[in-house]
Amino acid sequence: MPVNSTDATNLPIRERLGLRPIINASGTMTALGASIMVPEAIKAMAEIATEFVEMDDLLRAASHVIARLTGAEAGFVASSAAGGIILSVAAAMTGAALLAIERLPLDTTGLKTEVILQYGHNAAYGNSIDQAIRIAGGTPVLAGSVSACQPYQVAEAITANTAAGIYTVAHSTISYGMLSLPEFVAICHSKGVPVIVDAAAEYDLRRFIAEGADIAVYSGHKFLGGPTSGVVAGRKDLIRAGYLQNRGIGRGMKVGKESIVGLIAALEAWEVRDHAGIKARETAVIELWRESLAGHKGIETRVSPDSTNNPVDRLEVRVKPESGFSAYGLVSTLAAGEPPIMVRGHQAEQGRFWLDPCNLHPGEAETVGRRLAEIVSTTRPADAMAAPGKSTAGLLKWPD
Ligand SMILES: *Cc1c(COP(=O)(O)O)cnc(C)c1O
Repeated sequence: MPVNSTDATNLPIRERLGLRPIINASGTMTALGASIMVPEAIKAMAEIATEFVEMDDLLRAASHVIARLTGAEAGFVASSAAGGIILSVAAAMTGAALLAIERLPLDTTGLKTEVILQYGHNAAYGNSIDQAIRIAGGTPVLAGSVSACQPYQVAEAITANTAAGIYTVAHSTISYGMLSLPEFVAICHSKGVPVIVDAAAEYDLRRFIAEGADIAVYSGHKFLGGPTSGVVAGRKDLIRAGYLQNRGIGRGMKVGKESIVGLIAALEAWEVRDHAGIKARETAVIELWRESLAGHKGIETRVSPDSTNNPVDRLEVRVKPESGFSAYGLVSTLAAGEPPIMVRGHQAEQGRFWLDPCNLHPGEAETVGRRLAEIVSTTRPADAMAAPGKSTAGLLKWPD
């Protein structure tokens, strides 16, 4: 869509840029801009924008805040959780050896390079974890099979060349048959191997460090409501080594002063957030949506707890053919409507999707409820029964 540069600048920013005014009923999705930023972060970012700082000192301040919130010894700020995972792998490989840091990723002379993870934990969040390992110059070693991993499959795959283990906590991993974090940590630690936890979308900032992780990585822009950034918390020597990657592969994943102060403000706001009040509001939203869909043939709803035990419930909507919709057809109709409503449709091929209440502005829950009721009570659009598309054709035409 063309940007109309003659438009009055007092139009809302999405209109100025020719963007659709979407409502996000899908949760914390990077592809939709992650989260509503908390006011504390916005204020801090605006305040630092025109000031100079000594970046090492700013990052030292961030380390103290990360340590306080996570219970870890130290922390650094990365460009995102994805960036934090790459730099954590690099840190485990190089330690504080400055020449080794400059030589990554292709020259790994003298370094341990293998990084072990359970096969069912090789999640993708844009890129996959095995590519994150390779970006740092490491070699992924996948233990077990897609749906099962036994202790010996990790223990016996660890060699003198193993730099780290990675453990993924995510709805997108296989949720059964894998080792628990304490089991994985016990095996790795018995062989002197540090464990990096990908906890990008997790609420609990303390649990993984408490369960023995040497590094835990979180997104700054998911539940924390900070700017695009990553929180890397952990053992001081590894955190220092991760920070030192700014002299190497980390430089291209640099995070600026505005993101660092925004993240610090978001972390401090998290400490005093009214979690119970937010939960109560979200529960009411889910009930409103459930009522909007109640009594429609072929559409069933149920409250669905989060699969990694985050304290957020969603409304699962099961769509049967007798509704006149496929799940994908209903998801697409919502996204194509006025206003466009984006939902969690990644399991539409199984006849279901989820509505997530955690990123709504005032009034949007009611709009979503009204649109749901309208769509299921009116004539079905032509593509109501469409099957999910898996084409990359649109992507490959970008920017057209
Ligand atoms: C979102 C996510 C990531 C990527 O996080 P970013 O901060 O957006 O880079 C990595 N791992 C998991 C499990 C995620 O949910």
